[in-house]
Amino acid sequence: METPRRETFSEYVLDEDKRHNESPSLADIQLRLDDIRERIDRRAKVEMVRIVLVTKGFPVSTLMVAKGLGLRDFGENYFQEFSQKARLIPDISWHFIGRLQRNKISHISLLASAIHSVGREVELSDLAHKNFQGEVFLQVRSDDLQERNGFDPAVVGGMIRIGRDLGLNICGLMGVASISGGHSAPEFFRLLGKLRDTYGLERLSMGMSSDFELALDYGATDLRLGKAILGPRPN
Ligand SMILES: *Cc1c(COP(=O)(O)O)cnc(C)c1O
Repeated sequence: METPRRETFSEYVLDEDKRHNESPSLADIQLRLDDIRERIDRRAKVEMVRIVLVTKGFPVSTLMVAKGLGLRDFGENYFQEFSQKARLIPDISWHFIGRLQRNKISHISLLASAIHSVGREVELSDLAHKNFQGEVFLQVRSDDLQERNGFDPAVVGGMIRIGRDLGLNICGLMGVASISGGHSAPEFFRLLGKLRDTYGLERLSMGMSSDFELALDYGATDLRLGKAILGPRPN
């Protein structure tokens, strides 16, 4: 039976937003995941696209439900939460997507299979020092706001070279579209796509719940999705 909810996905999401503090059920997550996979399918070569489920703020029980549905790449922003969850659920590819603190890099490099948020040159040498062999994404700033994590687009080529010379697996670029000024999301995603092509990188980590379809249009391979799959974050 075709579920009518699927046709009115945005209404469904809005309804969901009204019910806070409830753990999403397996059926809820499955429904949203199916919808998202369909939408990815319409816009991209599915085999290239990886869904990184952003689990920050969600309890381990919710992560286990998602794992039961076949999701195998989870992303976290904050060190404590990342570290606890990654130890509790070791048979998952863990992606660190938050700002790196130098004194945590050693620990993160032991638990992560990918780090999306390398944004300073010193972090490259720290990771090389720890012999990190996972996937490294260089984060690119969406505008010249210095407080934003990430490299200026002008230095990306140099950083790729430095990272590779250090023996790191620099596989792609990551970006978070600005919500306040700077490049618009399409401008920024286009820029990231161009940089990826210029440097012949394989992967592009861009697109979150609110803009993943746009990101796919510009060649995203790694969608970092939280709310779109798990619903609103519990408070
Ligand atoms: C929280 C977060 C996401 C996921 O956000 P949603 O809106 O839940 O999809 C993706 N990327 C980064 C860097 C984040 O901090």
